[in-house]
Amino acid sequence: MKKLILLLGCFILFLSFNLSLFSQENFFKNPKNTFLISTDLHIHTVFSDGFVWPDLRVDEALREGLDLISITDHLEYQPHKGDILNPDKNRSFEIANKFAQGKELNVVLGAEITRSMPPGHLNAVFITDANLLLHKDSISGIIEANKQNAFVFINHPNWWPGRPSGIARLEPIHEELIKKKFIHGIEVVNVGLSLEALEIAIENNLTILGTSDVHGIATWEFEQYGGHRPITFVLSKGNDLTSIKNGLFEGKTMVWYKDLIIGKQENLLPVIDSNLEFSQPIYIENTKIALVNLSNLSSIPLILNYNGEFTLHEDDKIFIIPPRGSKEIKIKTIELLKKINMNFEIFNAIIGKDQYLKFSKTLNFQ
Ligand SMILES: [Zn+2]
Ligand SMILES: [Zn+2]
Repeated sequence: MKKLILLLGCFILFLSFNLSLFSQENFFKNPKNTFLISTDLHIHTVFSDGFVWPDLRVDEALREGLDLISITDHLEYQPHKGDILNPDKNRSFEIANKFAQGKELNVVLGAEITRSMPPGHLNAVFITDANLLLHKDSISGIIEANKQNAFVFINHPNWWPGRPSGIARLEPIHEELIKKKFIHGIEVVNVGLSLEALEIAIENNLTILGTSDVHGIATWEFEQYGGHRPITFVLSKGNDLTSIKNGLFEGKTMVWYKDLIIGKQENLLPVIDSNLEFSQPIYIENTKIALVNLSNLSSIPLILNYNGEFTLHEDDKIFIIPPRGSKEIKIKTIELLKKINMNFEIFNAIIGKDQYLKFSKTLNFQ
């Protein structure tokens, strides 16, 4: 029997070792029937103005727990062409994709169509041939990307060379392309957060994206931003490429940037619902003070503002639950209740300019 237990123990140890070799880090618990696919759809290499070889982008992404990346080198801007001729604009993808074979990472073909504002820089991902996107005018490239059924989005609309005020806004050409459904998304986070871009996304029903636009070594560039690059999670029905692409077109995304999550209310709600757990409330003996334990299953701290009708016994109404931590709160309910409505605003879950996600849960006493 002892031998059997030992054997079983060894097997479990072996199994968990094997799993940890291949399993990605889970940043958030998946909502029911949904995969949270972690992506970065804006990445450069030496094949445009980046400083690293495509293989390293794959290693970085695996190390950081990403599920899917797109290498999106500038088609037109080629400052290294004296050393790297790059006649084939699919080449950086091909190198990365070959290196990713057999690893837990998908690489999709992409390109950055690069002009000054307007229309500025646009990314096309899930394309089939980057070479065909290279035209004298960028609009022809955008049209060709759409012929290839690509997902096309506006890059860094708040970037100061095109927008000295730092305020993102659409030009008539963007409005026209959005109307024709040639543009499907917009970066709300690139190197910074743009609440104006978030407003544009919501008003025009564009997919909300956050990307790294990394040129150097990712860990060096993002150690000052909470230690991780901006990540777009696609709330996908499946973990295959078609489902992920559909999720992007349907606007089912959530951006993780520093300690913030940003997205449409309907996408943030299920994520919070599956990552914020409540214990059944109980009263402290001989009191009308209820105890509730809140658990945060995610990798970000949750900054909660209790909006309920009562006051708390030990805390202010604003408090923080640390990542993968929990917090017990004491609520002074005046009377002994059968159930209690827990209403919160989550101050680091942004659904619009000056708008934070509201979350409520009704808890029954034992
Ligand atoms: Zn750009
Ligand atoms: Zn870029």
